[in-house]
Amino acid sequence: MNIGSRSWHAHAKINLALHVTGRRPDGYHLIESLAVFTRFGDRVEIALADNDDFVVSGRYAPEVPLGASNLVLRARDALRQAVGQERTPPVAIRLEKNLPVASGVGGGSSDAAAVLRGLAEIWTLDIDGTALARIGLSLGADVPMCLAAKPLVARGIGDELSMVPDFSALGLVLVNPGTPVSTAEVFAALSRRDNEALPPLPRSIDFHSLRNWLEITRNDLEPAALAMQPAIGRALSWLNKAGSGFSRMSGSGATCFGLFETGNVAKRAAAEIRGRQPDWFVAATRSIASEGADGQS
Ligand code: ATP
Repeated sequence: MNIGSRSWHAHAKINLALHVTGRRPDGYHLIESLAVFTRFGDRVEIALADNDDFVVSGRYAPEVPLGASNLVLRARDALRQAVGQERTPPVAIRLEKNLPVASGVGGGSSDAAAVLRGLAEIWTLDIDGTALARIGLSLGADVPMCLAAKPLVARGIGDELSMVPDFSALGLVLVNPGTPVSTAEVFAALSRRDNEALPPLPRSIDFHSLRNWLEITRNDLEPAALAMQPAIGRALSWLNKAGSGFSRMSGSGATCFGLFETGNVAKRAAAEIRGRQPDWFVAATRSIASEGADGQS
């Protein structure tokens, strides 16, 4: 990569709970979701260059579209259009694609968020978080939450964000059995869209109170995704067998997460699952704590 390049993390988004509460007349679904973001994710490297350039590396590079539909390029072009050509000189962007594609962890949205954050710095733009989130929303409903990348509750179409304070880092294992799932198809297959809102969060969030709270919540997309891809059930049972305190599918799947009391226990569980399912995507990681919260799990 060019001299002077810098890099930004594109975190995986994990929907710890996701309730589908309605549908707008324009077809967008209304949701309520508690989401966290993991240290494991993609990486975006950017440098000023003579000409615009875009390359993709990493395990999942072959599955990423390289043309104008890539959210990296859409984010670059949307920001350039918003602030003007003269302030946005050519850039070389490298995407290291570590997250499985179409897997319910918002990889594309998170890449777009990393590009917006990165380019705002590289181009030394005087642009605030609200303006960046507005541009992000034009690219996808999940981009504003990926820009925030801290524990939060998302409502509306996923763009109305309330940050959750005092939320420590969690030990997580992510497992994907290698079956891409179309978000649109999962939403289309829902049997009902008027489910109840999320219950109030515990006053003090720790591993045990969170687990109890998760037991009374759902991912409303899980039954439909499971019917389309039975391998999701196998991913969940491997997480349970490896000692997860709580396991569920994230987003529209097929990635599932397991909650572990410490990062070390998560690492051991991931090694065990990887040993049994060498072709699956398996990652032990920690979530990003909220501002001022204890970063240890
Ligand atoms: P969503 O819920 O937004 O569908 P997801 O995690 O299930 O998120 P992504 O990995 O973001 O899925 O991919 C969704 C679609 O976006 C894929 O069909 C893919 O072709 C397209 N896409 C465009 N740019 C990217 C990118 N940078 N990384 C991954 N997918 C991308």
